[in-house]
Amino acid sequence: MKNLLEKIREQEVIANRLEVNLEERAGLAGKVSDFANRYIEELPEARSFITKELNTDRLKIKSKTKSIEEILQIFRDEVTETGIRAASGGHVGYIPGGGIYTSALADFLAAVSNEYAGVAYASPGAVAIENEVINWLKGIFSFPASAVGNLASGGSISNLIALAAARDKHGVKNAEIPRSVVYMSTHTHHCIGKAFRIIGMEDVIIRKIKLDEHYRMTPADLEQQITADLAAGLKPFLVIASAGTTDVGAVDPLDEIAEIAHKHRLWFHVDAAYGGFFILTSRKHLFKGIEKADSLVVDPHKGLFIPYGLGAVLVKDTRAVLHSNLYTANYMQDALSDDLVENPANVSPELTKHFRGLRLWLPLQLHGIEPFIASLEEKLLLTEYFRKRLEELGFRTGPEPDLSVSYFWYPSGGDENSFNKKLMDYIHEDGSVFLSSTLIEGRFVIRMAILSFRTKIATIDKAVTMVKNSLEKTKKEFG
Ligand SMILES: *Cc1c(COP(=O)(O)O)cnc(C)c1O
Repeated sequence: MKNLLEKIREQEVIANRLEVNLEERAGLAGKVSDFANRYIEELPEARSFITKELNTDRLKIKSKTKSIEEILQIFRDEVTETGIRAASGGHVGYIPGGGIYTSALADFLAAVSNEYAGVAYASPGAVAIENEVINWLKGIFSFPASAVGNLASGGSISNLIALAAARDKHGVKNAEIPRSVVYMSTHTHHCIGKAFRIIGMEDVIIRKIKLDEHYRMTPADLEQQITADLAAGLKPFLVIASAGTTDVGAVDPLDEIAEIAHKHRLWFHVDAAYGGFFILTSRKHLFKGIEKADSLVVDPHKGLFIPYGLGAVLVKDTRAVLHSNLYTANYMQDALSDDLVENPANVSPELTKHFRGLRLWLPLQLHGIEPFIASLEEKLLLTEYFRKRLEELGFRTGPEPDLSVSYFWYPSGGDENSFNKKLMDYIHEDGSVFLSSTLIEGRFVIRMAILSFRTKIATIDKAVTMVKNSLEKTKKEFG
């Protein structure tokens, strides 16, 4: 016994290094906080895109420990000074968001308390906050209180949860798979196809619905294709619309699509990962019919500027979601009670789960919704402003966008794709503002996605100067 106690104490001395004392905590937190403050202060002047060689040797985990100063220096040099500066307002490519500071503070609290947000029994308060955030989202999209929801890591996993529910509602398995039909468009986000593969639906029939000149799905074509598939003895079961496509920010005509889907008893899914929160703005009318969706995905880490790692899914058919995810107690399906869907672990693939709700709940409590809405409205106006400035420089711009994603190209004559590709290279080389590119009907275009809460008029002015300089360089090169 004496020997055993000695052995325990011996290990304890070393293990105790993990519990830093009060004084050490204050020191560490102070240094990290100073770093964060300096980082944010420097954002407006910092380049938004940096291509440089990573020194991966500095990232290696070795037996010799490092001081917090050394670690922060490595973090600065090898992480924040490489690639896209996602926290910057100058991130105007892909789909940005920014990452508000008060949400990071919520993450700190969630991590320090390490609340287990999977099951209400373990952490009633944390789970209640998860569910309060979900209820708040139901209110925004006019979903019924009886709908179920989950806060996932992002839009991809949220879409996966919704599609699995649609599959289980319609019994799409085994021999049913190759005759089951899904309707979407060429602009549907690629995570949908990925989710189909993961959930065993790779072999369903996928129909791409025609788009109009604003890249919105055309309801008449949808109706026609469903009717033809029914006549051919196939099994249409799912329509996927986008409320804000990633490529051009288009919102499909949700109300008309909902009507067609429901007439034929199909599951109506809306992917609003990027665009959903614009329902809070003057563009509200574009979202008419979203409340008729059977399932809906929206990403607070995009349209509410929360740091990466927060998507949300809402589904009206509770039973379908439980069928996919409730594993410990399938025998209880017939006795659905409120507390089953109350537990995040029963409605998602996750069991042990990060307390994600807090990173949205805390900022909403602290700031209120008003500055979020104003910021979205500002993004819509900045999109208009950027397009006007580009047109003044002789650029062609895509059709007037529904939301805050748009694109442009320079009508150079000759090989326009090569010209614009070169222009993109120069823009990336400059890096003061980050833009990305895409192909629209074979045309190489430069994309702008204005969504970071830190993107301001000054950012757009800086982008215009950058584009102008890059255009001059490209013109010189192409003679
Ligand atoms: C971003 C996006 C997704 C994927 O969401 P993640 O959060 O990146 O996983 C899906 N659909 C649309 C329309 C998106 O913009």
